[in-house]
Amino acid sequence: MRTKHVVVLPYNNECKQNFIDAIKNEDLAAIRKCPKADLHNHFVLGGSREYLKKQTGKDIQPIGKPLCSMDEMHAWNAENIGQTFNSTEGRKQLIEATFAQAKEDGVTILEIGEDVWGLGEFFHGDIDELVESFENAHQEIAPEIELRLQIGLSRHCDIGYLEDCLSHFWGNKAFYSIDLYGDELAQPIENFKSIYSKAKSEGLILKAHVDEWGTADDVRKAVELMLQLILMMF
Ligand SMILES: [Zn+2]
Repeated sequence: MRTKHVVVLPYNNECKQNFIDAIKNEDLAAIRKCPKADLHNHFVLGGSREYLKKQTGKDIQPIGKPLCSMDEMHAWNAENIGQTFNSTEGRKQLIEATFAQAKEDGVTILEIGEDVWGLGEFFHGDIDELVESFENAHQEIAPEIELRLQIGLSRHCDIGYLEDCLSHFWGNKAFYSIDLYGDELAQPIENFKSIYSKAKSEGLILKAHVDEWGTADDVRKAVELMLQLILMMF
């Protein structure tokens, strides 16, 4: 239950050297002591298994070998997590577990959020309930962490559907960034230009997953699109 991309904050050279040494020595306790920014976290898959076991009794086993594709990841999820947390209560437990894990890992900045489809699925279409679920877990478990709330887009979704979902998110000042992820081959990134353009005008940080399964050309197109959007602002 650990799919994370962690960025280390170079607070100072000593901190940087401690982190390098801890990695070289495979010293998990020392790695955890270094302050870190986790700028991309799959909260459903990034939470503390121990916390969830205490809360629900469900003992999720760690991944035993690397997963090589989206399909393998979905199959692992279905077998080990299944429908257990597919409810408002369950979703909130996953959010809490993420803060618990981040705290244990020495994360000082946590960028985390919900898929836009999760609003109707888990939070009764109520954007305030969604935001409060993250903020409450933040305050209860790790108020010392800086929370950066993210809007998540699944790449296989129809653009019109995403725009409908997003209409509830636009204008809400709780959000910091927007990210595109999922099946990279589902549709070209250019299809998301109008969404990114709106997000930029809302002051959100723009992010996208590329080159997980795509090609070098997909990376070039994503960078060009982002540059175009940045330059449009000047
Ligand atoms: Zn990701």
